[in-house]
Amino acid sequence: MNTALREQLRALEARGLRRSLRIVRSAQGREIDLDGQRCLNFCSNDYLGLAGDPRLARAAAEAMGRRGFGAGASRLVCGNFDEHEALERDVAQLKRTAAALVFSSGYTANTGVIPALVGRDDAVYSDRLNHASIVDGIILSRAGLRRYPHNDATALEDMLRRDMSARRKLIVTDTVFSMDGDVAPLKDLGALAKKYGAWLMVDEAHAFGVFGPAGEGFVAHEGLQKAVDVQMGTFSKALGSCGAYVAGSRELKEVLINSARSVVFSTAVPPSVAAATRAALAIMRDEPWRRVKLLENASRLREGLNKAGFDTMQSCTPIIPVLVRDAARAVAFSKELLRQGIFVSAIRPPTVPSGTARLRVTVSAAHTDEDIARCLEAFRHAG
Ligand SMILES: *Cc1c(COP(=O)(O)O)cnc(C)c1O
Repeated sequence: MNTALREQLRALEARGLRRSLRIVRSAQGREIDLDGQRCLNFCSNDYLGLAGDPRLARAAAEAMGRRGFGAGASRLVCGNFDEHEALERDVAQLKRTAAALVFSSGYTANTGVIPALVGRDDAVYSDRLNHASIVDGIILSRAGLRRYPHNDATALEDMLRRDMSARRKLIVTDTVFSMDGDVAPLKDLGALAKKYGAWLMVDEAHAFGVFGPAGEGFVAHEGLQKAVDVQMGTFSKALGSCGAYVAGSRELKEVLINSARSVVFSTAVPPSVAAATRAALAIMRDEPWRRVKLLENASRLREGLNKAGFDTMQSCTPIIPVLVRDAARAVAFSKELLRQGIFVSAIRPPTVPSGTARLRVTVSAAHTDEDIARCLEAFRHAG
């Protein structure tokens, strides 16, 4: 076996696509210790700067004192704690939906929800740049996969018009795209869903805590709650915790509890994790300055990069790609930035289409004005 695996690794290496793990020896934050080197962190998804916040750790510790650590079983058996229920109430209240259901991660939410809603006789319309967990959910569902060109509502309409035989139709999209930092044309998608009798599901992983009057996400930012049937989002990015939610109708929640295999056949998240997530939601509510600072930092960095001549694609969010195209050059660029104490990861195929390798810069509310200036300086030097 190992001979075959060595061959597999060599093939990756030859294409410049072999990856390896780095080790962090500090709390998550604007500055981290990476493999023994202190550097400014411009690649985490910790948008509000909460992952290393002691208040989350304290909330978890307190809950552990009361409920111990492990959940013991799936939620349907004996793993459903008061902490999970309280978190779901908090999310439904924030999102103004009838109900919400918690999952152990965004990945398991998407791979659980989609097969619970559609099957063999159905069709799923998925943006070409949707997250891998959505693609995997569609494959697991055995429904027909219709990939439409990125953010192209006209092409999507052509597909919907031609598909008369599908029993159920589900349109699914990221609201903020994780590698491009652009946003979906939600209003158009909502109109198409209505016109063709399709359901609309959104993944707010990079929008929850970032957009919306209270951080509810991009759907709320656009005022389109009524047009969206299934709102999925994660606690693992802006909220600095882990896990995910699906918010929607009571019927949706009941179907997921009964049919989402990642709920039925998987142990519940530790109650302490739910408690830490609730603490993060409270901070998000009480400290709106974090969202303001985050978006200010994003604009400042994006404008600085553009002024220095870098192509940041269609980014309008705290995810700022810097297009390099060639994979090897992107890796060399990232290495040079790290030498200057700035950690930005290089994103290569198959994560992005070939010929579009890039640096993916993400900013956080925790970055200071000086951090942003240092990042720009390093880009100007390395570029
Ligand atoms: C990160 C991400 C996920 C997965 O969420 P995890 O909680 O990390 O498993 C799902 N969808 C999108 C768009 C993401 O960016």
